[in-house]
Amino acid sequence: MPGKEDMHKLTPNPATRQLLEKMAGEGCETCFDRFEQQKPQCNFGLRGTCCRMCQWGPCRISDKNPTGICGKDQSSIIIGNLLRALVAGLSVHARHAHEIYLSIRAAAGGRACRPGG
Ligand code: SF4
Repeated sequence: MPGKEDMHKLTPNPATRQLLEKMAGEGCETCFDRFEQQKPQCNFGLRGTCCRMCQWGPCRISDKNPTGICGKDQSSIIIGNLLRALVAGLSVHARHAHEIYLSIRAAAGGRACRPGG
């Protein structure tokens, strides 16, 4: 995975690069700082070969242990992790979209919208 310095060099957007440099100069922490603090990351997690779908896990897939306790292989675990992450992300964005819809509808009707209301 690229580190903080790589991200500053590789970002294609000059405005983003300027913003990152300004934040670094002012001591503002970013996700790239927190990424550096998390190193070294778990290689099973980076490869998507760690399964925590049930309480028997976590199961970590390697050449020595090619299947989880239930028999899931590497492909099943990786696609399961990807799909679960996608659905979780989609559900969060859908919730945000719903709140925006409620706010716009309330504003169009001349009413204020309370969170969750
Ligand atoms: S590989 Fe199977 S047993 Fe292991 S955590 Fe995943 S679902 Fe549970």
